[in-house]
Amino acid sequence: MSQQLSPIDVYQKLPGLNCAACGVKTCMGFASKLIARELDIEDCPHITNHPAKYHELKELLTPPVRPVEIGRGERARALGGEEVLYRHERTYFNPTALFVDVHDEMPTEELRGRVSTIDDYVEERIGVELTLDGVAVRCRSGEPSRFAGAVEAARDTTDLPLVLCTLDPDCMEEGLEAAGDARPLVYGATMENAEEMIPLAREHDAPLALVSGDLDELKRLSKNAASNGVTDVVLDPVVDPYNLMDSVNRALQVRRAAMEKREHFRYPMLTVPAAVHVPEEGDDAAYWEATVAAVMVNRWSDGLILHSTEAWALLPLVTLRQNVYQDPREPAKVESGLREMGSPDEASPVILTSNFALTYYTVESDVEGEDAWILVADTGGLAVDVAVAGDKLNEDVVKDLIEETDVEDRVGEKRLILPGKAGKLSGRIEVATGWDVEVGPQDSSEIPSYLSERERAEA
Ligand code: SF4
Repeated sequence: MSQQLSPIDVYQKLPGLNCAACGVKTCMGFASKLIARELDIEDCPHITNHPAKYHELKELLTPPVRPVEIGRGERARALGGEEVLYRHERTYFNPTALFVDVHDEMPTEELRGRVSTIDDYVEERIGVELTLDGVAVRCRSGEPSRFAGAVEAARDTTDLPLVLCTLDPDCMEEGLEAAGDARPLVYGATMENAEEMIPLAREHDAPLALVSGDLDELKRLSKNAASNGVTDVVLDPVVDPYNLMDSVNRALQVRRAAMEKREHFRYPMLTVPAAVHVPEEGDDAAYWEATVAAVMVNRWSDGLILHSTEAWALLPLVTLRQNVYQDPREPAKVESGLREMGSPDEASPVILTSNFALTYYTVESDVEGEDAWILVADTGGLAVDVAVAGDKLNEDVVKDLIEETDVEDRVGEKRLILPGKAGKLSGRIEVATGWDVEVGPQDSSEIPSYLSERERAEA
């Protein structure tokens, strides 16, 4: 298991000048920022004056799973970089990259259309845009020039990272030529073709996927790649979609070995749920592919190659990925303050909620279509009932919020609708703020009917 670094471990390798040239007042402060990945070693201008310490520090700060970047430019995607086996031990850093396939027997226009669909895919959830990460170009024809044409068409259509999928070195060579400087992932090297694939990856400065369901073979491939100068490596321990228990066990062994810093396993893992579609096609295969993919997001896959693009297959996957890779030390939250729903005026209701992102966006969608003010309290990202129990939502928080937002200047009457789950605070909030407090529904889905009834009663 990896050992968590302490600032003192890092501080011992720093120059110790406390000169603040890195933007932090002290070397100890800089050490903490390095561990949190908020700054880079090179932000200290003095560190390269001490080459030995610099290299020791580099090694010390390299995560047990080395990060490997695919693609170039702003949309390049890092895989791996993880420090812990289980998220609750600290956090995960680089969400599983999702690559969707195209193949070289597709008519060019169809291929371009599918690549555009992959590129354009976006779902918004709790204020975050969830997207796909790249295109896997598969060689199905076995013809180098045809594969090169497909790679070229994909590259012309998107600047997302590419994965070139063929076990034939001749096809890979032409595919790599067509990819130019895009730095695609070469997928992949096996025991049969490694002698040709490894030099190709080295010559094109491209990361290389090593493929074997036998972990001894995987280790031999990894050693071979490293001894031939290829260290940007991704491991595919091969998912058997019909024997998930064995597949997950293999993934566990690989990730454990990385956490123990066993050199030849210290790389990201990539798996291919799309293999479910060979030879099956249709809804059953797509359903099983989504299931396998979900298991592997939970079980250390840093990248997945997928085939299905149906909304029902992708949406649960991007949602699951968002949840797994959410930093458990940081609740998902939105900014506190006053929000306008619709076109509120001085007669519009004022509704209080918490700044836990899931709560806020649920309330926001439930209130859609109404003209209302939403007062979002800073509860530290806690849901209403938890915030009340933990004293993060109380009369003082609400009083400060009302004063900071000047909501009093926007409305005619000082009337506040509390969430039902904060009902017990109503008296204290009335005394502290001087506002009339109404206790709203327990569930925000009932807000529209609550507002309608309120309006009728007042008419
Ligand atoms: S620039 Fe380097 S020496 Fe100066 S405070 Fe930062 S870490 Fe220390």
